[in-house]
Amino acid sequence: TIGKIFDLTVKKYPNKEALYDVRKNLRYTFKEWSEQVNRLANALLKEGVKKGDRVSTFTFNTEELGTAFFACAKIGAIFNPINFRLTPEEVAFILSDATPKAVLFEKALEPVVSSIAGRFPQISFWFIDEEPPAYAASYKEKVAAASTDDIQAEVDENDVYAFIYTSGTTGRPKGVMHSHRNMVDQALLCIAAQKLEKEDVGLVTAPMFHCAELHCAFLPRINAGAKNVILHQFNPKAILSLIEQEKITKFFAAPTMWNMLLQEDLSQYDLSSLKIGLYGAAPMAPSLVHALHDRLGISLIQAYGMTEMGPAITFLSEKDQLRKAGSAGQAALNHDIRVVRTREDGPSDPDDVVPTGETGEIVVKGPCMMLGYYNRKEATEKAMYKGWYHSGDIGYLDEEGYLFVNDRVDDMIISGGENIYPREVEDLLHSHPGVLDVAVVGQPDDRWGETVSAFVVKKDPNVTEQDLDEFCKNSNSLANYKRPRKYVFCEALPRNASGKIQKFVLRKQLEELFTQGS
Ligand code: AMP
Ligand code: MG
Repeated sequence: TIGKIFDLTVKKYPNKEALYDVRKNLRYTFKEWSEQVNRLANALLKEGVKKGDRVSTFTFNTEELGTAFFACAKIGAIFNPINFRLTPEEVAFILSDATPKAVLFEKALEPVVSSIAGRFPQISFWFIDEEPPAYAASYKEKVAAASTDDIQAEVDENDVYAFIYTSGTTGRPKGVMHSHRNMVDQALLCIAAQKLEKEDVGLVTAPMFHCAELHCAFLPRINAGAKNVILHQFNPKAILSLIEQEKITKFFAAPTMWNMLLQEDLSQYDLSSLKIGLYGAAPMAPSLVHALHDRLGISLIQAYGMTEMGPAITFLSEKDQLRKAGSAGQAALNHDIRVVRTREDGPSDPDDVVPTGETGEIVVKGPCMMLGYYNRKEATEKAMYKGWYHSGDIGYLDEEGYLFVNDRVDDMIISGGENIYPREVEDLLHSHPGVLDVAVVGQPDDRWGETVSAFVVKKDPNVTEQDLDEFCKNSNSLANYKRPRKYVFCEALPRNASGKIQKFVLRKQLEELFTQGS
């Protein structure tokens, strides 16, 4: 169980520094941290939280979120980290779906909580900062009053450890249920992929509520006895200073975060401690992989996956970065990946495998597959049809067994009967020096069905639609029908907290622009 692997690390390295929370300037050894975990666990028990009850967190990246993660695990409570970017109504939906006993939240998010707390009289709200509002209890007081006695709850490795809600771009968010065993397996394969050792120092930069950070970086580091430095919110300058100050060796960031780091003056910092940069959770253009490799001079590893699978299902290793740029790599340890024919009338058949090199839906089997969606029988059956997780991603496997992820099934553009994968067009435009960020979506068209439109964030303010169109024409790599017919320049692209572009927002914007007749 997750509680057990934490205890084993504490036993092995009691006096090693485990954690540094930048926001509070707080440092814990593993022993000190485990005392805090036990205190919170005992405080939750005293509150009446029992095995199987849910406990939610609603914070940016904090020590308290990490402490709650292990405290819940030790008493068999189900951990539910809520996305800090959600609106009050979205948070209310999750609270009514997950029905937690307690919610731990922080000051910066208090306005969201205060607007909905009245609707949940049965929930105990715990405020982790000073001066709690009237409807909330003081986390600090609760924890200070509790004992550091170790908890010996009966928790089985197949018990549910967490509900992690999907981002919900296709309807209401769903609570992905993972077991303890799933996460121990995920930690192990992430330790192997990143060659984590106790000497490593990791920086938590991406949101901890998202499984890419929580399961691929934070948890495996603890399992390996390495240190976590927790940065409250993403900030490129703070990241670079912390790498220098804390001698960070490895960390995860989404492609958009890496892109922002590259806009900084890197020569101002001593980044020599850095060994490995992990990226994933969204596609990264090969031109950005090359830029990172050249400018940071570190090893890069890509992870591809989804919340439902733990998340990592493939890794592109450091050795393959340049040779296989654009690929998501090979199946993670003990994972089986297939590309199968998509169907209009239901989930694709995992046995209907397409020939090597042909595109289809990516389906996968592995030890970290979710137990299902909480209270969503139908959605679970569809997603796990015939025992394979159906990713909804389109891709192909090459002769060497490397996976290429083209796009979401829903984001594919069909123009004049031809399939266009936005990612191919995006990757090309990304390689234009005047482009900082780009997203390509389909626009309904009477004649062609759909045509290609590109939303572009400029790096060079002088870049024009004509420049980009010429660039595409001259690239010799983009067929004519894939060339964007319309460019929309914007300040930033709408992204969710894990760095994924919200294409449904862009399609809506296009529709609005379109009906205004521009
Ligand atoms: P989530 O459930 O938030 O983890 O989102 C999972 C989805 O993110 C996948 O189905 C992919 O569409 C996308 N994704 C994750 N990692 C990658 C990657 N390395 N390359 C391309 N897309 C990715
Ligand atoms: Mg399992």
